Amino acid sequence: MKILVAVKRVVDYAVKIRVKPDKTGVDTNVKMSMNPFCEIALEEALRIKESGNASEVVVVSMGDKQCVETLRTGLAMGADRGIYVSVEQQPLYPLSVSKLLKAIVAIENPGLLLLGKQAIDDDCNQTGQMVAGLLGWPQGTFASKVALDKQKRTAIVEREVDGGLETLCLDLPAVITSDLRLNQPRYATLPNIMKAKSKVIKTFKPSELNVEIKSDLEPVQVTEPPKRKAGVLVSSVDELIDKLENEAHVL
Ligand code: AMP
Repeated sequence: MKILVAVKRVVDYAVKIRVKPDKTGVDTNVKMSMNPFCEIALEEALRIKESGNASEVVVVSMGDKQCVETLRTGLAMGADRGIYVSVEQQPLYPLSVSKLLKAIVAIENPGLLLLGKQAIDDDCNQTGQMVAGLLGWPQGTFASKVALDKQKRTAIVEREVDGGLETLCLDLPAVITSDLRLNQPRYATLPNIMKAKSKVIKTFKPSELNVEIKSDLEPVQVTEPPKRKAGVLVSSVDELIDKLENEAHVL
């Protein structure tokens, strides 16, 4: 069984986000990395392969040509091959990504499609759900544990939900999106970074996949969150309770 993992290039989680002066988006002229939830999804795919339940892990990324670097990172972590879909129109919204993923699935025919639960740049948390809908595949979102049964062709997915854990049994092929606690992704070692340079990355244009990139939404403006007010020192418990009651209105 083949596993396809969608990995997105985003502003590195440690970078302080700056809104562009014209408020059309955030400054992306900064350190970029693989979306942390995608790293977790890829780690899970590699573990499934290492346990003998998959034969190949393929990483796919869509966007400008820098996405190839993100794919190389995925190949250095241990993925076997990469697929790059070159898209110039930015931003690329989840519905377009989902249509492109559906087209790649038709070519690659994977038994499992793994994604991050959300991209930390747009925080959409939509792509996994949309692509599952387009494919008509079962979905296990926010997975905190995944176990495959090769014989029965099922995946048991544990999800952290309000007030407890939900366990789902999905027939394969299926879509699974990774939550933070699913695993701890590995670092790429130097020999694997070298090996990754010779792994194959195939490139497609959306037109070759018969997908038209268009959007029915337009961001009006992006603004920074309001600055936090400085804290105050209170001299007594009574004063604290008074402030909580009358200023913060939390009591
Ligand atoms: P989102 O719905 O935008 O929060 O993204 C959820 C997940 O969809 C990400 O963690 C990726 O696995 C996948 N994804 C979204 N955009 C892209 C992209 N441009 N290239 C590859 N994967 C993507």
